[in-house]
Amino acid sequence: MKSFQYLLYLSGLTREIIGSGLEAACDKDRISIDLPDVEVNLVQSIEAGTNLSLPMGHGLDSCGKTNQVISVDICRVTMNVATSNQSEIFLEAWLPANWTGRFLSTGNGALAGCISYEDMAYTSGFGFATVGANGGHNGTSGEAFLNNSDVLADFVYRSVHTGVQIGKEITRVYYGREHDKSYYLGSSTGGRQGLKEAQDFPDDFDGIVVGAPALAFNNLTSWAGRFLSITGPANSSNSLSLADWALVHEDILRQCDALDGAIDGILEDPELCAYRPNSLQCLRSGKQTNCLTATQIDTVRRVFEDYHGVDGSLIFPGMNHGSELVSRLIYYNNQPFQITQDWYRYAIYHDADWQAADLSITEAAYAAALNPFNVDTWNGNLSTFQQRGGRLLHWHGLTDPMLTSANSPRYYDHVSNTMAMAPSELDEFYRFFRISGMDHYSGGVGAWGIGNNGRVASGGEPQTPNNNVLLAMVEWVENGVAPATVTGYKYINVGCFLRTRLATGWC
Ligand code: CA
Repeated sequence: MKSFQYLLYLSGLTREIIGSGLEAACDKDRISIDLPDVEVNLVQSIEAGTNLSLPMGHGLDSCGKTNQVISVDICRVTMNVATSNQSEIFLEAWLPANWTGRFLSTGNGALAGCISYEDMAYTSGFGFATVGANGGHNGTSGEAFLNNSDVLADFVYRSVHTGVQIGKEITRVYYGREHDKSYYLGSSTGGRQGLKEAQDFPDDFDGIVVGAPALAFNNLTSWAGRFLSITGPANSSNSLSLADWALVHEDILRQCDALDGAIDGILEDPELCAYRPNSLQCLRSGKQTNCLTATQIDTVRRVFEDYHGVDGSLIFPGMNHGSELVSRLIYYNNQPFQITQDWYRYAIYHDADWQAADLSITEAAYAAALNPFNVDTWNGNLSTFQQRGGRLLHWHGLTDPMLTSANSPRYYDHVSNTMAMAPSELDEFYRFFRISGMDHYSGGVGAWGIGNNGRVASGGEPQTPNNNVLLAMVEWVENGVAPATVTGYKYINVGCFLRTRLATGWC
């Protein structure tokens, strides 16, 4: 049985520790910042090893997470920050005693609603003065968007940007000087938030690391909701059982695993897999078990097809092959997809009775045109970020079962076209890595341990710029050494890694 355990290993990146000795000053007097709309709730010293209970009061919801171990001594500051007369964010700053002079913001996930406490522990453990905000509302539901455009604005862009502005000021006040460099780390919705910063607030960060970003957000939510219309309800003849999807997975591997030269259960490039499910079809005079009906074959074909809209244009690219053992639990389960249903109910139609089963390409077009606060985050012009010396590292797992990995190269190509820069020129400030066999932001059949977030397991090996995307970004920003590859780890049992793999840059 495989098991995964993460052990934080403080970076070997050499840098003077400049924050030590300030722990005693972790009190409200020292954090007496004079910023409008900021109400400091709590200032407390927390020792390394403390297991913090969650949620942490103030009516917060930690999205089911019950505790967080703090890896280094920190000064913790919690705040409520008004963003309008009908909205606010809850913000935390974790100021480590081993401060390296670096500032970092974390992001959120899905429609939440919750501070990414794992990521705060993870990055403060590396000596970053770290902030995390709740995205402007609590919990995993999008209900807070209902008839409140300011809460929606917080989710789309304002929560992160506000947290960065205040977080940098608190960092300055606490340590007695400005930070040296600023960083961002996030995936999924957090990935979208990071690219929103690169697009609209290019001065906020020197280095941005994003994974599996939820770009083209309106069309993504429509695509995610579309699977219910393909599979139908549980009693539909279109539907496949869990066992049926396992058959499909085996058949995909049979047809495509060897294309990369290794029969190892990993598709190095799912886009090369021109899968044809026909061989699974039950035959009138022949196999009658472990097979699919013609109607089910059509379902399989459709979930992998690109999704096209009212004028024939692409709404969203099809699901990547190889992801179906997880996707069957998320999308092919005959249930409405919660994020889609909440987005349409509370952000698009402001109609709590809207049903995801009603989704059509006409409604997809409506949501895309409405595009509240430009949540699509599809601006391909990153020239201001580039010109100020910003660096962007973008990765995507190729067995992502929630957000097809085919969407990320679309954005990379969009930036290339918009800025009229070939990949060799983009390499100066924007690099994209595809991680084979990696799921949405952790897990998968491949070597998915790339140091991308606090949930990523480690066998305890030293974290270096070669095997950790955050440290790779630090090396790029501060020493000018850009990552040419990303090495991932795959773990079996604690402390024993199965394999490493290299992901080379996209071109
Ligand atoms: Ca293979």
